[in-house]
Amino acid sequence: MPITDSSTDVFTALESEVRSYSRSWPVVFDRAVGSHLYDEAGNEYLDFFSGAGALNYGHNNPLLTQVLLDYIGSDRIIHSLDMFTTARREFLQAFDSTILRPRDLDYRVVFPGPGGANAVEAALKLARKVTGRESIVNFTNAFHGMTLGALSVTGNSLKRGGAGIPLVHATPMPYDDYFDRDYPDFFYFERLLTDSGSGLNTPAAVIVETVQGEGGMNAARAEWLRGLAALCAEHEILLIVDDVQMGCGRTGGFFSFEEAGITPDIVCLSKSISGSGLPMALTLIRPDLDVWEPGEHNGTFRGIAPAFATGAAAIREYWQDDALAQSTVRKGARVESRFNALVSRHGAETLVAKGRGLARGLQTPDGSTADAICRAAFAEGLLMETSGPEGQVVKRCRRSRSPTTTSTTAWTSSTRPSPTS
Ligand SMILES: *Cc1c(COP(=O)(O)O)cnc(C)c1O
Repeated sequence: MPITDSSTDVFTALESEVRSYSRSWPVVFDRAVGSHLYDEAGNEYLDFFSGAGALNYGHNNPLLTQVLLDYIGSDRIIHSLDMFTTARREFLQAFDSTILRPRDLDYRVVFPGPGGANAVEAALKLARKVTGRESIVNFTNAFHGMTLGALSVTGNSLKRGGAGIPLVHATPMPYDDYFDRDYPDFFYFERLLTDSGSGLNTPAAVIVETVQGEGGMNAARAEWLRGLAALCAEHEILLIVDDVQMGCGRTGGFFSFEEAGITPDIVCLSKSISGSGLPMALTLIRPDLDVWEPGEHNGTFRGIAPAFATGAAAIREYWQDDALAQSTVRKGARVESRFNALVSRHGAETLVAKGRGLARGLQTPDGSTADAICRAAFAEGLLMETSGPEGQVVKRCRRSRSPTTTSTTAWTSSTRPSPTS
């Protein structure tokens, strides 16, 4: 019998067991505005999940929604593969004039497919082609996506286990602070690179997140990132920064590596790059690395024009000056001081405040505590997810700017997850 009622039956009956977020929030969402989601019964939820970082400008930001309505309401092209289109030109012009040039960044743009994993696959493939080397160095607790190449440089054992084939040609190194500062930075990595007996093939590239969003909100220090860039330069290894989650202003500046003053050879962007939550991804490559033959890396969804339209509008609206970046840093500092207050209340053995900018997390003793906090938050109308290898970090990843509300008031009034509940 067809399932036609308005319950959740059709999801649980028809969708694969692989579905995950709907298990945490078993209501049917229908509308969303700014920082809030609404379920079918009209209940309001404050959204600290923020599409895992895909909604940095808020849900249905009115400015971007208008751009989208104008675009699709006038027979403009929706799909074009990589043909020249007006929308693609406007995006590239906005990206070049407002993002790249003011930062003195010289990159060619690859449209690799619609998701973050597509951007990572393109980066890994190109690094291997350019250098003729096969191995990649990644970091403990990294997350780079769920396709096989991206999974091979991802840490999480549950996710890796799903590959079904050996995940090879990647060597994990300790991320910043992996050993609680017991060893100098790159103690192990540098030794392996310089010892011809180490067994480490010279890698094509190192891939790194400046803040590990899925891996537990671990924020690398700027000096660690500078040290990594210097090590890569010294050994002629390409540096890939996966800015899929931390880019587009999540930590403050448009790129999360700006604060460290490093210039990666390759950058992956996705999640919030379309501004509207539509799928879109970019792989930025140093011009001299652009050794691809026409069509050598290809795919159907590399020209989703409505995403270009809203992406260009978001750049023009929010990145002409540093007001958004500064407000993100300010709000992030406010969250940090709240988190620090919780840490002093409950003790540093119980809670650890983590993150940078508006990518913040609270590490609890274990996954079940973090789950209990998120469940209690949901009961109060607040969506938060967990991250970290055991899911022990409560993650607060919320949009940077809403044109209609200020984001700090809701934070102070509506959240006070009790770590013991
Ligand atoms: C989400 C994410 C990805 C993967 O993006 P998808 O769109 O889910 O394929 C890659 N890297 C980082 C850092 C991410 O947060």
